[in-house]
Amino acid sequence: MLQPFTATVLTLYPEMFPGPLCHALAGRALEKDIWRLDVRNIRDAATDRHRTVDDTPAGGGPGMVMKPDVLAAAIDSALMPEDNRPRLLMSPRGEPLTQKLVREFARAPGLIIVCGRFEGVDERVIEGRNLREISIGDFVLSGGEPAALCLLDAVVRLLPGVMGKRESGDWETFEHGLLEYPQYTRPREWEGRAIPEVLLSGNHAEIERWRREQAERITRERRPDLWEACRRGKDKNEA
Ligand code: SAH
Repeated sequence: MLQPFTATVLTLYPEMFPGPLCHALAGRALEKDIWRLDVRNIRDAATDRHRTVDDTPAGGGPGMVMKPDVLAAAIDSALMPEDNRPRLLMSPRGEPLTQKLVREFARAPGLIIVCGRFEGVDERVIEGRNLREISIGDFVLSGGEPAALCLLDAVVRLLPGVMGKRESGDWETFEHGLLEYPQYTRPREWEGRAIPEVLLSGNHAEIERWRREQAERITRERRPDLWEACRRGKDKNEA
């Protein structure tokens, strides 16, 4: 159905978009119509004179909660015919965003992304509109917009035609379950630090081996969790 990849973002701060997404890789892809961005103000779905989008939490407590009726109306009016795009809600309670999920989203026809504000959204709209909660990390933002920008940045760079073949990151962090090896460029010596000799040797097999070792060392030191998962994966393949 949707051609090209179309991201609909529902937000109370539409002026935050495209923001960083109109620059560099994602920005060029937007210009080339490889993807489209449809930004909607949730407030436009409010029906009362004050255009109210939030109310006090049932049961008491601080802050405000986004109203289910207004948010659902905003989602419904953003749907396109036969819309089967994943519907996401940016949320610190959600599934952690990983490169695996990013790849999955890049294969979809597009995304519908709801950005929360205040204390969050009424639980019933999450259920009633089948929203999949996605978190960008174990910390709390003041709103879902920066999270949606991160998610879209990661997804858009994987869309066909966005990255050139050379830059398309065969050996990128996470693609092998490992963190990336160290990178260097000219000058050959800088502040008394030299580029590792092997990288200047022209011996591609040696360079490949050095990069692999470095990637493994960095992953072991910095992310024992990834290292364990990587080793378990290997054992499984060998079994
Ligand atoms: N009271 C909530 C936090 C609300 S933060 C709680 O304790 O869970 C306000 C909004 O910011 C959320 O509705 C969500 O859309 C967004 N947000 C905050 N942290 C986020 C994170 N780590 N990942 C994705 N979205 C986040």
